[in-house]
Amino acid sequence: MASTSQIRINKKALRKNLEFIRELLGKTKLSVVIKGNAYGHGIRTFLPLAEELGADHFSVYSSSEAMVANEVKQPDTTIMVMGYIMEEDMEIIIQDNIEFYISDTNTLQLAIRWAKKLQKKAVVHIDVETGMNRTGLSVIDFEKIIPTLKENCELLFIKGLTSHFAGAESIANYTRVIAQFEVFNERAEYLEQHGIVPELKHIGSSAAMINYPRTKLDMIRSGIMVYGFWPTKETYIKHIHSKIDKTNPLERIISWNSKVVITKVVPQGEFIGYGLSYQAQDDMLIMVVPVGYSNGYSRSLSNNGAVLVHGQYARVIGTVNMNMLICNITHIPTIEVGDKVILIGSQGDNEITFASFSEMNDSLNYEILARLPENIEREVF
Ligand SMILES: *Cc1c(COP(=O)(O)O)cnc(C)c1O
Repeated sequence: MASTSQIRINKKALRKNLEFIRELLGKTKLSVVIKGNAYGHGIRTFLPLAEELGADHFSVYSSSEAMVANEVKQPDTTIMVMGYIMEEDMEIIIQDNIEFYISDTNTLQLAIRWAKKLQKKAVVHIDVETGMNRTGLSVIDFEKIIPTLKENCELLFIKGLTSHFAGAESIANYTRVIAQFEVFNERAEYLEQHGIVPELKHIGSSAAMINYPRTKLDMIRSGIMVYGFWPTKETYIKHIHSKIDKTNPLERIISWNSKVVITKVVPQGEFIGYGLSYQAQDDMLIMVVPVGYSNGYSRSLSNNGAVLVHGQYARVIGTVNMNMLICNITHIPTIEVGDKVILIGSQGDNEITFASFSEMNDSLNYEILARLPENIEREVF
């Protein structure tokens, strides 16, 4: 069956973004973050394409994402799990050479147990708490596990030391971020004093690479910028500020489109869609697009989002339904059933970016992308 919308992935744009990021990184390694089904782009479609363009390290959150990545990757490509590993998944993770975080002492014990059983080293990154107060080993646990790490050096390959900044996308968090970086460096030194020198120290994501370039260390885990979005407007401004060329170096690689299935005239005074959320102030022309919140089009875009059709913006009116949305096309009367509708992407000189609908909410990009369902058709062009 055909899906009511299609996602297209632009290879040229991905190449451009990767080139730009590599230039920022210099000698620092890049791990391309593909959690949330590659930010909605689809791991199966996206990963091989990124590999073709030189990426060889990918970060996911869950074991199941790691398995998908493992199925489609080239033999020399590395997959790293940043999230929690369920007990029943540890065997296959170690068996398949997937790298993973040690964020708590139980996971360490589990890794040692399975490595022993499998007679195979677990490749781990020690995740330390530096001030986000989310995951990561507390200083007490960190110091406590060091003898265990040393005793089990036959079973563990300590590939990395890692942590995560609590809000590198905003300079408002400057003090907190810098304090985290200092704690991180102390942990690294402590490890070294105990004879453990991980190959990769990594803490930064896309935003840190722009706002705090000295925190790049050995590796940056970048997601959103690889896909061509800036983490926040602030990061974009920070980058562009000092540049003579003010053009945006990033290009969105995703476009998501559907088509018009119904157009109709609504007389003045009538309500449109469910309830009373939208009333026609004048006679209106509207269109129905067969994409709703079950297809990944967020309900938060009710009476708020816009799509592109004939290169022009058409506002979403009323509430986004489970399987459709309604837009005002009074100003574009030539629209016909079957015409292409852009939900994400550009047409003519106009572009849809979710974050711009709600000025304050840059995180909407992450959320909407991550929720794009897996069953939408995806193709590369
Ligand atoms: C999501 C995530 C990243 C990547 O963040 P971007 O802002 O998309 O670059 C890096 N590290 C961790 C732990 C993450 O969860």
